[in-house]
Amino acid sequence: MPEVEVLVRHLRPLLGGRTIRSVHVRRAKVVGPASTRNFRQALRGAKFCGLARRGKYLVFQLRQAGGAEPVTLVGHLGMTGRMYLLPARDRLPKHAAVVLNLGRENFVFEDTRYFGRLTLDGSALARLGPEPLGAEFTAKRFAQALGRSRQAIKVRLLDQSLLAGVGNIYASEALFRAGVAPTLSARRMTAGQVQRLWRAIRAVLREAIACGSTVPLNFAGRGRADGLFYFGRAPGAPDYYEERLRVYDRAGKPCPECGTAIQRRVQAARSTYYCPRCQSEAQIRRPKSEIRRKAEARNPNRV
Ligand SMILES: [Zn+2]
Repeated sequence: MPEVEVLVRHLRPLLGGRTIRSVHVRRAKVVGPASTRNFRQALRGAKFCGLARRGKYLVFQLRQAGGAEPVTLVGHLGMTGRMYLLPARDRLPKHAAVVLNLGRENFVFEDTRYFGRLTLDGSALARLGPEPLGAEFTAKRFAQALGRSRQAIKVRLLDQSLLAGVGNIYASEALFRAGVAPTLSARRMTAGQVQRLWRAIRAVLREAIACGSTVPLNFAGRGRADGLFYFGRAPGAPDYYEERLRVYDRAGKPCPECGTAIQRRVQAARSTYYCPRCQSEAQIRRPKSEIRRKAEARNPNRV
């Protein structure tokens, strides 16, 4: 979600007021269920008048010159999608799935694996839960939503109908910060754990957005406004964000709080990273200073 929020903030001023001159669909699957012909018809001549994020979706608002109904275009980056503006004279990338010509520039949706979407179908938005950073997501509402579920909390957090936009990286990070075992059944969480997790989710997402997300926007030196967005780290880009992740993708490395080796396990086919000591299911929360002291005294190789 932070990546999408950063992208939305980046694209909003670049697209606002721009009119789509022509529509090129190179991968029909990406715009479905509408036919390529209907997709083209709905968008040709329309002007961008708004862009917002909902969960991991980009929600573009457009208006046709006729002024009838506004058109909503919904984008999802999938695993490998990127959206950016490219000078119209530049050669299109091999995996450009949809290209909207805006005159001197093209808005390009590129996706090497074609899991992403750029579609007129907004039905996915209706199934989303509250925004984790929105006012409607209160600790009380979070507790109510969790109360009924037997699922492991890590798996539950990825359910977009519970909470819109918490992905695999931030679910692991939030659980670590809250000191909650990823395997703990959601309904077995204490009120204190729910409160800590609620706070941790908001903190990790806010920090990631503030930091500019896990992935840098790359302006590729071709002009101030081309704004290439790389979903994934650009070659040679600094590691500055990854260092801020405390457990994600750090299996075998020492926990930043207690020095115990971070473990990886698979839950619902997704990797979970956690510290077996700081996130013990025993639900005991000792002060961090005490945990640190004991870790120093212990054989560091023992897990
Ligand atoms: Zn630890």
